[in-house]
Amino acid sequence: MKTVIGVTSSFDVEKDTQVLPANYTRAVESSGGIPFLIPAALSPALADEILSRVNGLLLSGGYDVDPQWFGENPHPKLGTVSPERDNLEISLARGALQKNIPILAICRGLQLLNVAAGGTLYQDIHDQVPGSLKHRQDAPRWYGTHEILIEKDCLLAQVLGTTRLRVNSFHHQSVKAVAPHFKITATAPDGIVEAIEPVSSKLPVLAVQWHPEGMFDQVPVFKALFTWLVQIASP
Ligand code: MN
Repeated sequence: MKTVIGVTSSFDVEKDTQVLPANYTRAVESSGGIPFLIPAALSPALADEILSRVNGLLLSGGYDVDPQWFGENPHPKLGTVSPERDNLEISLARGALQKNIPILAICRGLQLLNVAAGGTLYQDIHDQVPGSLKHRQDAPRWYGTHEILIEKDCLLAQVLGTTRLRVNSFHHQSVKAVAPHFKITATAPDGIVEAIEPVSSKLPVLAVQWHPEGMFDQVPVFKALFTWLVQIASP
């Protein structure tokens, strides 16, 4: 039996359509797992049932997390929010943490996970963090435009086998206060948080602000994140 990875999807409210870029499922498939898409327009009451049927969870990228979840009103540069998706993913993230189900969180997934665990976000980096770099690149998806520094003693450094590399960047939000029981494991040169993970090294959770699914084909080191997820989630 192959390892089943539940992958969350986006919800296009106007078209009443649930979508996910195929690179996420390609990355899981090519790492030996079977990706199952989790519909975004689904009752959060089903989160536990879904979690009991997957071996691992991939929280995918997408629109902004509603700042209401961390006690703020919308900044003028807040982008699109999807209440249905937020509701479901908050339940999935909290449930997975509680049940010790392995998680790989990507971009919005990192932000969602941080909020689900009690952290906060900058709603717009450019406006709220003076001197920040360009984090919404105008370059091919696979191309790493800014550097990150990874802490030496963390799961991320262990999985990637390095403490310094270039990543792609397609975000305008980022972690402000890291959630309790989580730690920052990678930052960009401007201090923007690029990865978090639980303080306890026993929890199988990695969260990255960049898009490894858009790079793994051209830059092999990034495939290690998906291989890690599929292996650690293996039943
Ligand atoms: Mn970035």
